[in-house]
Amino acid sequence: MVKILWFRKNLRLQDNKVLKTFLEELKPWDEILFLYIKNENSYKYYGEKRINFLNQCLEDLKNKLQEKGYNLYILKGNATDVFKKIIVSDTVVFADRQIEPYCIERDRKIDDLLKTKGSELRLFDDAALFDSGEVVKPDGLPYTVFTPFKNRCDSLISERHYSEAKCDFSNAGKCKEFITVFKEKYIFRNSAEGFIRGGRNSGLELLKEFYEKGLERYNSERDFPGTGGTSLLSPHLHFGTVSIRECYRAALKKLRETKSKDEVRTWLSELLWREFYYNITYHFPYVINGAFKKQYDNIKWSYDKELFGKWREGKTGYPIVDAGMRQLYKEGWMHNRLRMITAMFLTKDLFIDWKWGEEYFAEKLIDLDFSSNNGGWQWSASTGCDSQPYFRIFNPYLQSAKFDPEGKYIKKYVPELAKVPVKNIHQPDKMSTEQQKQCGVIIGKDYPLPVVEHSKVKDRVLNEFKAI
Ligand SMILES: Cc1cc2nc3c(=O)[nH]c(=O)nc-3n(C[C@H](O)[C@H](O)[C@H](O)COP(=O)(O)OP(=O)(O)OC[C@H]3O[C@@H](n4cnc5c(N)ncnc54)[C@H](O)[C@@H]3O)c2cc1C
Repeated sequence: MVKILWFRKNLRLQDNKVLKTFLEELKPWDEILFLYIKNENSYKYYGEKRINFLNQCLEDLKNKLQEKGYNLYILKGNATDVFKKIIVSDTVVFADRQIEPYCIERDRKIDDLLKTKGSELRLFDDAALFDSGEVVKPDGLPYTVFTPFKNRCDSLISERHYSEAKCDFSNAGKCKEFITVFKEKYIFRNSAEGFIRGGRNSGLELLKEFYEKGLERYNSERDFPGTGGTSLLSPHLHFGTVSIRECYRAALKKLRETKSKDEVRTWLSELLWREFYYNITYHFPYVINGAFKKQYDNIKWSYDKELFGKWREGKTGYPIVDAGMRQLYKEGWMHNRLRMITAMFLTKDLFIDWKWGEEYFAEKLIDLDFSSNNGGWQWSASTGCDSQPYFRIFNPYLQSAKFDPEGKYIKKYVPELAKVPVKNIHQPDKMSTEQQKQCGVIIGKDYPLPVVEHSKVKDRVLNEFKAI
């Protein structure tokens, strides 16, 4: 029998449920193949920094497999076409389950194809603590509000959800490699560096550092973009270079050791937001095309390209918004507080369709994860489940003063404002001409005037939402 391990969002050789089962079920007469399929035609949502991160992860995985005496075949093309070429009868393909509707559709096609050859695709939940669809209400219906979902997770979770999926390669030693028709050598072209390196070692270092220095302060510091108070693990969790179970176990260990238990509990709760949004995509796949609350598909959003361009480029005249957008462009990442501020600004102050914002984030984020991105955008636009009510609109000036009180974050990403005193940094257009000259920035020339007046936006939002 031919057994193929198809790596997708689980790019590691440790604590990997798919690999564990694959290795356990090997027989000495099996032929094996470790495979990754790079479908560059589906790269609409793969910015160059994300591709670079992925390449680093693949290169690392390939090296780690080589150390064990195996190859990682990285084949290019549409997955169905790839399988049409390589599949023979009596083949089992092992892969991690992906719950996005377009992935489900792809897997269905591949499964149909394999069946015509007497072969099969076997999927295993690995990306989250809970299996797809596992956490439901006692009556079997899905949760649509985070707190009860979280409470249910807390009551259901047991060791089997977070214990290590140990991967023992000793069985594989006896198997021959399944040699495919593909002999091409994959060339890794690493170009656009993001803020973070791909590969397992880099992920583990982040987890270690966060465990030692960040976890016990998480709740107090996580909202301040200038402090580096979060783990930065999102790209690793997305590509599976670090497993969610490793993160959960680290937090449980810290919980046993520390007096600052609430700080750690907040991080555990954030991990469950990720599960919550998976749960939404799984049960309500229509969110891929529109609002969770369907009535809000009728909102008459604006499609002003000029304003949208200013938001994207970080030239709105709102320093905190501009700093966030420039960080995203430069590093392929943005702090959670800034994701909320910039998304809220686009949807409420500019009243631009959240789907434009979702798509732009998708193009730029290294950690792009359909469920979390869609969930985050719908939360900000007030169209989602358990989202911010539409009448509660962030005031960008107050957010800025509260979460970047000294303007350190702003000054890092908006260097034109570097010499602006702290008392003016959140609203530099309020400086007199003389003050502007003193700090070397003329507002309206070197840095834009605000593109809209925040105090006037509320009426429009209330009217449009109330009209639905
Ligand atoms: C508009 C918007 C878009 C977003 N897009 C994405 C995205 O594409 N990919 C993504 O991973 N996250 C997204 N998030 C959620 C969140 O911003 C990031 O997960 C977080 O900033 C990652 O930083 P960290 O790893 O340092 O997180 P930490 O604060 O250290 O949290 C640990 C992990 O918990 C998970 N997590 C934390 N907060 C959230 C949350 N609110 N929703 C879902 N999961 C969470 C992430 O996996 C994160 O890595 C989005 C949020 C918003 C408001």
